[in-house]
Amino acid sequence: MVNEYRKEKQALEGLEQAEAAKKRKDEQVCDWSNAEEVSLYRAEKRLAERELLLDSIVPTRVCPNCKRMIWLDSSWVVDKRLAVCKSCSSLSRRRGGEEEKERRGSIGLKASVRFEIDGWKVRSLRERVGVGANSFAQKMGYSRSYQWQLENNKVKSLSLELAEKFISVFEELGVEISDII
Ligand SMILES: [Zn+2]
Repeated sequence: MVNEYRKEKQALEGLEQAEAAKKRKDEQVCDWSNAEEVSLYRAEKRLAERELLLDSIVPTRVCPNCKRMIWLDSSWVVDKRLAVCKSCSSLSRRRGGEEEKERRGSIGLKASVRFEIDGWKVRSLRERVGVGANSFAQKMGYSRSYQWQLENNKVKSLSLELAEKFISVFEELGVEISDII
């Protein structure tokens, strides 16, 4: 009995140590006070996410359309659960005309990767620098009501485009935002 108990306890302690080590690692991934390093870290993370996404959709890296093997991850265009190589994607766009043109906005990784956002923090940061909700929304290029939804945590995640806009608007206001996106 005592031995069983010791074993359990050791296992638990092992888990706790692993957890603590992981937490330390997360904190050390980059210098969160250095904007340049943060944006580099984010870019690397995006690339890694893209690689994972491609691994899950086209693990062989063979374009389903032209059957060529495309090794460069940046030469892929991902739309939802479909991935084709860049040249096939631009060919289909050229052939598709207007309808494809409209779809163009949703093509690519931008549609697939979302960034979680903490609306309460957005609000407190915005208030800290004394910028009104209206003018903040204007800077971001969306409506005042979207800003309200966002700040009341009705918006759970942002597109890559919007996340980048957030970073640049807050940077412009001189605010470090590594903790909100
Ligand atoms: Zn192709």
